[in-house]
Amino acid sequence: MPKILRPLDVYKVLPQTNCGACGESTCMAFAAKVADGVADLKLCKPLFEDPKYKDKLKVALEVARPPVKDVVIGVPPSQVVVGGKRVMFRHELTFHNPTAIAIDVTDELDEQSLVKRAKAIESFVFERIGQQLKLNLIALRCVSDVPEKFAKAADLLAKNVSLPLILCSYSPDAMEEALTVVGNKRPLIYAATKENWKEMLELADKYKCPIAISSPGDVNMLKSLASTFMGAGVEDIILDPGTFVKGDSLAETISTFAMLRRAAIEREDKAVGFPLMAVPAVVWMEEGDEVDKKMKESYIASILMTRFADLMVMHSLDFWTLMPVLVWRQNIYTDPRVPPSVKPGVYEIGKPTDVSPVFITGNFALTYFLVKGDLENSKIDAYLVVTDSEGISVESSVAGKRLTAEKFAEAIKTSGLDRKLKKKVLVIPGRAAKFSGELEELLPGWKVLVGPRDSSDIPAYVEKVLKREMESA
Ligand code: SF4
Repeated sequence: MPKILRPLDVYKVLPQTNCGACGESTCMAFAAKVADGVADLKLCKPLFEDPKYKDKLKVALEVARPPVKDVVIGVPPSQVVVGGKRVMFRHELTFHNPTAIAIDVTDELDEQSLVKRAKAIESFVFERIGQQLKLNLIALRCVSDVPEKFAKAADLLAKNVSLPLILCSYSPDAMEEALTVVGNKRPLIYAATKENWKEMLELADKYKCPIAISSPGDVNMLKSLASTFMGAGVEDIILDPGTFVKGDSLAETISTFAMLRRAAIEREDKAVGFPLMAVPAVVWMEEGDEVDKKMKESYIASILMTRFADLMVMHSLDFWTLMPVLVWRQNIYTDPRVPPSVKPGVYEIGKPTDVSPVFITGNFALTYFLVKGDLENSKIDAYLVVTDSEGISVESSVAGKRLTAEKFAEAIKTSGLDRKLKKKVLVIPGRAAKFSGELEELLPGWKVLVGPRDSSDIPAYVEKVLKREMESA
């Protein structure tokens, strides 16, 4: 059964003094937030700092620990939290801590190229539904095999970009050399293996950094190493069960990820209760065409994110490789109980005046951003009135009567545009065409036009229809 934390479970282990130090007025309100995954137990300072709650703290940490532990990479303000999962599927409980995506660089790059690529990773951004979708970490691979070179590259990255780092080397010497330079920035150590685990365990303990355990294709070894690390008090662990992408091995990789997550959540197997790491970048080790590799990296990343990868290392910085992965991540980590919406009200497109047309739509975020973008593309100055459709698309909200002619009319009346405009031309969505007659009656003095069904047709509609209608209005 999924281990869903209830507010009462948390409340029982809090000091129950309602002191307000956590920012909530009552311990119960704080407990509800912790159970929902939106507040950190550490915010209850009395629990962590007052010795009289020592025993309570011990129980509280146990109660609040999710079946998949959360692991922090980096230091504030540039830190990433991975894992922290309580359920297998997001319809059971909202997912937090979106899959973190790292892009690799190597210490064989010359200084200028290294900094240039790192800055490109840091500045990569794609805006969708009002959210900025970004990359999260830089994975520095030790290709040179020269500890000093690896450390120098790590230093250069730390000085030029603020994204957290993953230090990738199986050599404890190279790892220590880099950690002496950037260890205070809490990079992820990648990786401990069955060959080097003793030295890597010491480094993780000494520098207090999270560590990835890598055991490609050998889950028993992965569990055994994780148990050993836990026994030694090192618990900020990430598991890399291996990413195999050729033929049937991809199916095995996917089922290994699913099996590990199921064991952690449904069987509460502590040895695998850690974030999972995938490396879609391995496709670049194969022979073949560059475009094919980009496509393969993109779909493998999307598949493994679907199958519980909490952290991924990719190679391509190509927009079309990353865009589907980032969009998919945004979808997986959107709260399914809360439709993405924007605030109802009047939005200006360009520089509208008292003779500009008025467009009206619902407040589903995707609708708003598409309509806004298409209006901007048509180079028109206009008002966009956003009506409360409860975050549902126009078509569905019209069918479900969440959007009605009365609601559109009310939005126009309360917008103040009635008094402001000399020409009163209202363009309603094509999918709400049936409201046009009723709206003419509800809004005397307004000319109501039916716009296109699809917002991508707005530029053509403006050119071919609206300009003419505005002249005759
Ligand atoms: S800080 Fe702790 S004790 Fe104080 S109100 Fe918040 S949860 Fe309760």
